[in-house]
Amino acid sequence: MFKVENIRKDFPILSRQVNGKPLVYFDNAATSQTPQQVIDVIVDYYSNYNANIHRGVHALSQEATDLYEQARYKIQAHFNAKHAHEIIYTSGTTHGINLVANGFSTILKKGDEIIVSALEHHSNIVPWQMLCERTGASLKVIPMNQNGELEIKAFETLINQNTKLVFVNHISNALGTINPIEHIIKKAHEVGAAVLVDGAQSSPHIKPDVQALDVDFYVVSAHKMCGPTGVGVLYGKEDWLNKLPPYQGGGEMIAEVTFEKTTYAALPHKFEAGTPNICGGIAFGAAIDYMNAVGFDAIAAYEHELLKYATNKLLEIEGLKIYGTSKHKTSVISFNLEGIHPYDVGTILDKLGVAVRTGHHCAQPIMDYFKIPGTVRASFAFYNTKSEIDILVEGVKKAKMMLS
Ligand SMILES: *Cc1c(COP(=O)(O)O)cnc(C)c1O
Repeated sequence: MFKVENIRKDFPILSRQVNGKPLVYFDNAATSQTPQQVIDVIVDYYSNYNANIHRGVHALSQEATDLYEQARYKIQAHFNAKHAHEIIYTSGTTHGINLVANGFSTILKKGDEIIVSALEHHSNIVPWQMLCERTGASLKVIPMNQNGELEIKAFETLINQNTKLVFVNHISNALGTINPIEHIIKKAHEVGAAVLVDGAQSSPHIKPDVQALDVDFYVVSAHKMCGPTGVGVLYGKEDWLNKLPPYQGGGEMIAEVTFEKTTYAALPHKFEAGTPNICGGIAFGAAIDYMNAVGFDAIAAYEHELLKYATNKLLEIEGLKIYGTSKHKTSVISFNLEGIHPYDVGTILDKLGVAVRTGHHCAQPIMDYFKIPGTVRASFAFYNTKSEIDILVEGVKKAKMMLS
C-alpha cells in the first residue's frame, strides 16, 4: 500500500489554500487533479516537441508523432485492447458517445430498440434521444431501485430481438453504484445487440479489461484519471469500428480526396479528423503510467477505506440521508440534510475550503426518482485523507447548525 503523504506531494494543487483554508478537494468525480509527473510532460511537450503530427517530414513532427502514437500503445495496453487501432482518440467521453451514436444512425431503422439505464449521465441520454428521432428507433430505460441499483430482472424483460444497442455506465457518477456490466453484456450479446459502456467514472478506480469484458465500445475521459481535459478515448472492437461511418470529415481521416469521391483512411485515422489534442494524448499516456505506478488494486482498496470511514461519520449526523447505498459502489457519497437545500450546504463548505459538487450531477432523472432537487456530492480520490473527511464532517455539522 502506498503512503498517502508521499502521493500528495505529487499534486501541487493540494497545497494551495481556498478562502484562507487548506484546500480539501472532494470533487474528483467531476475532474481529478493532475500530478507533477503529468504537468512535466505537458511543459516538456510545448517546450521541446510541439509540432503537427503525421504529415511532417521534419524532426519535430516525427518526434511528436512518435510520442502521440506511443501513448496510444500505452492506452491500448492499459485497457487490454487487442489492437492499437481500436483505440480512437476523442475529446472525451461525450465525444466518444456521440461518435458511436452518429455511426448507428446509418444502422438503426424503425422498430429497432435502444436500451439505456436510469443511472445515466446526460451525455449518455441526449445522444440516444437524438438518434431515436433520426432513425425511428425507440428508447427503453432499465429502472433503478431505492438503493440506486439497476433492476436487472427488468432489464432481462426489456431486452429482445429488436434490441440493437445497450448503453450503460460502468459506475454512476451521481451515486457511485458499480453496475453489473458483465451480465448486461452477456445478455445483450445473446440477442445480437452491441454494448457501449461509459467508463468515465470507472477508469479512475479500476482497470477494465475490454477483451475479458467482451464489450463492444468503452469510452473514457483523461481528465478523470489524472490527465488533462479535452482528451479521451473510444475503444471499439475492430469489426464495429469498420462498420461505423466516420463522424467528422476533414484532414487526417482520408485516404484519397477528389471532388467526385473521398475514400477514408484506415482505423484509427478514419475517426480522427483534424489536428488532435496532441499534447493531451501524450499526457494521457503519462497519467496512465502514473496511476499504474501507484497501482489500481492499492487505489481501490484505499478509496474503499475512505468511503467506509466517511459513510459512517456522515451517518452519525441526524437528518443526513445518503442516496446510493448499493454494496457495490465506489468512493462517491451523494447526500442531503433534511430540509436544507444542497446548494446552501455546498456554499458553506466552500467557505471552509472544502470543494464538493452540488446539484443534479448531470443526472436529473436520478434526482426525479428520489424527488429531490439535487444532492451534495463528495467524491474521494486516492490522494485524499481521513483527516480531510473529518473537515468535511465538521463542515456539514456547521452547515446544519447555521441553516436549520
Ligand atoms: C464525466 C462523465 C461524463 C462526461 O465526460 P466528459 O469528459 O465531460 O465528456 C460522462 N459519463 C460519466 C459517467 C461521467 O462521470
